[in-house]
Amino acid sequence: MELGDDQPFAEVLAFPDGASPDGAQRLQELLKRSAAALEGGRCEAGIELSEEAVALAAELGDQRAEATGLVLLARQLARAGDHEACSQVCDQAGHALRALGDESGLGEILVVHALALNELGLAEEALDCLAVAREVAARLNDRPLLFWVLNRIAVVHSGMQDFARAKEFQLRALELAGGMDVDARFCIINNFADNSIGLYRQLLAEGAGPAESGEVLRDGLRYAARAVELAHHPVNGTPYRQALARDNHGMLLALSGQSEAGLAAIQTAQRIAAQHGYQAMELATLYHSAFVLLERGDPAAAVEGLTRALEQATAMRELPTQMEIALELSRALERLGQFEGALLRYKEHTAVERQLRSQVATVRARRLDQLVEVDHARLDAADARSESQLYRERSRELEAEIQALGKIAADLDRQANKDALTRLSNRHHIETELPHLIEAARATGRPLSLAVLDIDHFKHVNDTWGHAAGDEVLVAMAAVLRRSSRGGDLVGRHGGEEFLIALPGLGEEAAVEVCQRVRRSVQEHDWSSIRAGLRVTISIGVSVLAGGDDMGELIGRADERLYRAKRSGRNRVEATPEETGRAAS
Ligand code: GH3
Ligand code: MG
Ligand code: MG
Repeated sequence: MELGDDQPFAEVLAFPDGASPDGAQRLQELLKRSAAALEGGRCEAGIELSEEAVALAAELGDQRAEATGLVLLARQLARAGDHEACSQVCDQAGHALRALGDESGLGEILVVHALALNELGLAEEALDCLAVAREVAARLNDRPLLFWVLNRIAVVHSGMQDFARAKEFQLRALELAGGMDVDARFCIINNFADNSIGLYRQLLAEGAGPAESGEVLRDGLRYAARAVELAHHPVNGTPYRQALARDNHGMLLALSGQSEAGLAAIQTAQRIAAQHGYQAMELATLYHSAFVLLERGDPAAAVEGLTRALEQATAMRELPTQMEIALELSRALERLGQFEGALLRYKEHTAVERQLRSQVATVRARRLDQLVEVDHARLDAADARSESQLYRERSRELEAEIQALGKIAADLDRQANKDALTRLSNRHHIETELPHLIEAARATGRPLSLAVLDIDHFKHVNDTWGHAAGDEVLVAMAAVLRRSSRGGDLVGRHGGEEFLIALPGLGEEAAVEVCQRVRRSVQEHDWSSIRAGLRVTISIGVSVLAGGDDMGELIGRADERLYRAKRSGRNRVEATPEETGRAAS
């Protein structure tokens, strides 16, 4: 019998970041207890604890702990013999470990998975897993991992009855066994002995010479004896290993002609197995002792043993063992001349074989479905991620575009309302805003005055200092006007060198006062900073909103008075048609 599920477990119990202390503490506790249950061989409790840990880790979003929990769960399921559940959990754990970039963890879970797949009869899939694990081991230069991978590859080949190839891998694993612990050394040495049995029987069946088969047998016996020794190791020895090693040793002794000693060893193994409830091993010893009895020429005793073994195997639903024993039983009955019984057992053998095949096909299909599902889920998640990312990016872009457009629109709006040279309101804006001011004045009953300003002899400025200097004067004039006005006033360039100021709330007197101040400000402004010797004055006509005025009439009256101011000598403010004497002071 081979030993496969005895790999040491590296605990990873990192305290997760960001989890609530209570939840995180509880999670860590669950993982610790689950690991302890695994070490102590308490499968059922371990499965419950690790399932709980996985669920809690998922809830807390702790991916590291979730992966650790899945690995623990997979190991417990393997121990419990629930290979299909184990395989599913291994797939999940594998994805989780890949996502975490934990190559070492991935290598270990692949080895666990390979065993489960092999037990399910999916030898090829098991070898695929092990090929990946082997690459991981090589990449990480992880000798223990490589050891277990080689060991498992051998187990799979042995199960496929390819004992020669199994031996190749076992020899490679044995080369690495020196640095490994007793558990590992026992495992590979015992497996080597076990494989020798298969290889020897196969060589005999193929008609190999005694030299070749004899060597295999001697090697096998040597390793089996060493395995028995290790199984009785004062610290690491266990009854399970003792039974395992003695069963193999017994088979090899029997094959080498020492039937009595062999039978005794196998029966010792059988006793230990029965005593400790190792059902699968008890079944194997039953079958093996029957085999020895048959070899020794006692087919009647063999048939009795094989019949009991077959009953047990059937009860345990151990299909591969059932199939093997049925065939052996058929042969034993044939030897006894009971051909009818032999035929019945042979039919039983083929029926179980068919059953096994369909089970393998079912598991394979289910596994493929699951893999496709996982892939789909991954793709969907990736799609959703990239879609929402695209959406977020697009909406960010749109937002930026909207903002840019808003800015452009505001700029355009400002430009549409502003005079490009002076940045004052342009004629268009004045003509849009003035009616609102008129309306507001009428609604509130407050006065509204309007001043129209024109630069005196501006043509002369242009002619003397140039058009550029004229532009500078216009800009400086705008600044003076802006400084002289209040927040609610509407100040604009009405065209050319003509400006306009609307003064809400001001009656004629107050408006004239403001205009005089503006006129003086202009007169007193230091224009020589633009061009030496430059002086600038303005003339202003003022009108006050009257009963039936519209904007045109209001501006028209101010214009009239402006021309009167010009005619009256310039640098003047004119308000009413009658009074012409409000000259510069
Ligand atoms: P008055 O005192 O009677 O107003 O004399 P004026 O020379 O100011 O009057 P007129 O209307 O004859 O001349 C206005 C001048 O303003 C003519 C035009 O070339 C000039 N002007 C109009 N717009 C601009 C401008 O944007 N830049 C410059 N530099 N000159 C301008
Ligand atoms: Mg002018
Ligand atoms: Mg003019």
